[in-house]
This record gives sequence, structure tokens and C-alpha cells, in this order.
Amino acid sequence: MKKLAFFDGHNDVLLRLLNEIEDQPANSFVTGNRRTQIDLPRAREAGFAGGFFAAFAPSPERFDLEEYQSEDGYSVPMPPPLPIEKAQKATLEMFDLLEDIETLSAGQVRVCKSFAELQDAHSKNQIAAIMHIEGADCIDAKFKMLDTLYQRGLRSIGLVWSRNNIFGYGVPFQFPAPPDIGPGLTEIGKELVSECNRKKVLIDLSHLNQQGFWDVASISNAPLVATHSNAHRLCPSPRNLTDDQLRAIAGSGGVVGVNFAPCFLAQNGILSSSVPLETVLLHVNYLVQTVGEDCVALGSDFDGVMMPEEIRDVTGVPKIFAALEKHGMKPSTIEKIALKNWMRVLRQTIG
Ligand SMILES: [Zn+2]
Repeated sequence: MKKLAFFDGHNDVLLRLLNEIEDQPANSFVTGNRRTQIDLPRAREAGFAGGFFAAFAPSPERFDLEEYQSEDGYSVPMPPPLPIEKAQKATLEMFDLLEDIETLSAGQVRVCKSFAELQDAHSKNQIAAIMHIEGADCIDAKFKMLDTLYQRGLRSIGLVWSRNNIFGYGVPFQFPAPPDIGPGLTEIGKELVSECNRKKVLIDLSHLNQQGFWDVASISNAPLVATHSNAHRLCPSPRNLTDDQLRAIAGSGGVVGVNFAPCFLAQNGILSSSVPLETVLLHVNYLVQTVGEDCVALGSDFDGVMMPEEIRDVTGVPKIFAALEKHGMKPSTIEKIALKNWMRVLRQTIG
């Protein structure tokens, strides 16, 4: 199988670089390091054509999912809302870092602000980065910070990470559980959806609870997108999507990025890197059968979660395509999952 170019719905490498590599994190991404799951040399080797680069502002209360796991699953208490100053400081640091990566890469990595720029980057073999915030905790009720970040290239927003904020309510880290937990978007959350539509900023539904999901579905005029979530039918984590949600996404012409985290893949929600590559294929096939080949893409979650051993880092992605082909999937379907579905949706959302 020839090397396939692919686009990825989610990575957390910016936070990982800031947390783990004190000295010259941007340079370490560009020249390569063995501590993150994605860096420039390995992205090139794998065929990574681009992806959403998340700025996620962490809570000071760190938790280790493993500590909460028992035979029956887990339930992690969610940290309280993050003060806006903390969220803004962390977000701006990560945007700075992505811009430093762009500069240091000397044209190899390009922050893309429109579909035309994405296409141009792709034709020049540049890696395209979409600036994303995972949780809108840094955005004030007057949307001033939205304007500031938009100017710098922000084109995708997750309204909430699992922690609640002034816009809505996220799903907690629980297993097993339905995503139907908590109320819908706040009034200001609904306004933010309309403002994102006006600005052509993509709205990401991953991490949002079910009522919030239906609020976005009823307000937004853009295709519905979940950048890094799986099928709840196969793995009953609230981070995954029910069949009704999947059908709504497909009906809007949107897309679901399949997440490689063992806890969102395995039927038993286990937190273990021993979860086989096969489980990724199960979700891909289930999604293709349930909502069609136009609705399925990748949303790895590199550097946000532990990876299955067989994938390990970005260089493991071609194994997924090879396995899909071996299982009889048409090359034209694999190309859609790898790249074309994301491109179509980005054309229709960020424009
Ligand atoms: Zn996430």
C-alpha cells in the first residue's frame, strides 16, 4: 500500500511540549524528540498532512484516571470551572508555541486560516495546522478574547472540555455511563454557537454532554463535527456518541474523528495500552455501516492519552490504513477516512 496522506482531528502536543520539555519546546517538535507522540520528523514519516492542534488549559487539580479504576469502571470527580485568567494565560502560551513551531519549521508547518490556505499547504507538501481550543474557558462573555484568538488563527472551538464553563456542561470521566448528563448550553453558550457560525469557526462537539449536543444541532447552520469521539454502542463511555447523535452528524454532512484512546475504544473501557489495533477497526467499520463512509475520519488524541501499543505514536497510523485494506475496505473509502472527509468538512465550516 502506498503512503497515504492523512488529516487528524485532534492532538494535544502543544500542552505536552510545554509540560515536558522545558528547554526550547518548539525546537524539540521541529527537530524531533522521543517524548511526545507526534513531532515533525515522525509526522513526515507517517504521512501526516495536518490536523487540529489543541490548546487545552489544564486545571491545577491533576488526576490520574488509573487511580479511579475498579472492575466496575471508574468515576472521576470533575475539577471546578477554571478561572478565565488561568485559561487565557495557558491558551496564549500554546498559541505562541504553535507560532514558534511554524517559524522554526521554515515553511514545513503552516497555520491555516481558510480552506484555500489548507489546499495551498497541501499542494506544497506543508503540514497544515488548524488552531483549536479544547474548551472555551478562555473566552469572556463579551467574546473579546474570541476576536483576539480569531485574529491569530483560531478556527475551531470545543465549547467545553469535560469541565463545565459559562457556555455549557461537559461529560465527566465515568465508565460506563451515557452522555445524557446535565443540562444544555447556557444562553451565552447558544450565542457563542451563532457567533462561531458568523465567523466561520468550526464547533467541536467532542466532550459536550448530550443536551448541549442537541442545542448545537438545533442552532448551528454548519455541519456537525465531533473531532475525537467514538461509537457509544461499542464502548459505553459518555465521551462517545450514541447512534442518534451519529445520525444527526451524518445528516448534517459532518464528520466523526475516531479516537485512539483505549478507554474510548474498548468495550470494557479498560485503560490499557494492550487494547489491540483491531478495536480501532471495529469502530471505523461500525461508523461506516451506521452512518456511511462520508462521515468517518481520524481524531487520534495524540499526546492527550495513552496509545494502544500497536499504534504507539503518529508513525503507527499507516498500520490502520493497511489493516483496513487487508479487511477488504475499498481504497476510495480509506482515502475518505484518511483525508477527504476532513477536507470536505473544513471547506464547509472554516471556508
Ligand atoms: Zn479531548
